[in-house]
Amino acid sequence: MKIAKDAVVSMHYTLKNPAGEIVDSSEGQEPLVFLQGHGNIIPGLEAAIEGKAVGDTLDVTIPPAEGYGDRHDELVQKAPLNAFEGIDDLAVGMQLEAMTEQGPVPVHITAIEGDEVTVDGNHQLAGVELNFNIKVENIREATADELEHGHVHTEACSH
Ligand code: ZN
Repeated sequence: MKIAKDAVVSMHYTLKNPAGEIVDSSEGQEPLVFLQGHGNIIPGLEAAIEGKAVGDTLDVTIPPAEGYGDRHDELVQKAPLNAFEGIDDLAVGMQLEAMTEQGPVPVHITAIEGDEVTVDGNHQLAGVELNFNIKVENIREATADELEHGHVHTEACSH
């Protein structure tokens, strides 16, 4: 079986940024399991693994447009420190949810200077070229439930 739309794929991956630093990896953990062709993973990775088989390895470089998108400067905002009252250990790199008119948006703190805090609503990998090393571990057909829901059902699933 080869990777195609509606296949459930298990794969190990290591993600490096252009500086060669490991940003994320499944090494030493369970492989990533997802439903191919349903936007469960970034578009560039879905395209790169299409047609691959179990045991295949590949190195793929994905531009931001096919990854986590471009950075948007308007998503970087400054807020007064007292807007974060009640949050212990406020620190650079901390992830928070900002309440906006569109609902909760994930942001991370990029600077704390005096009583001014800079929050960034960009994905931390927005604007970053992604270098993946992939090893395909398993491929199976999705169940009817999984196809209906558009995601993989694992033991950890709550439904
Ligand atoms: Zn489901």
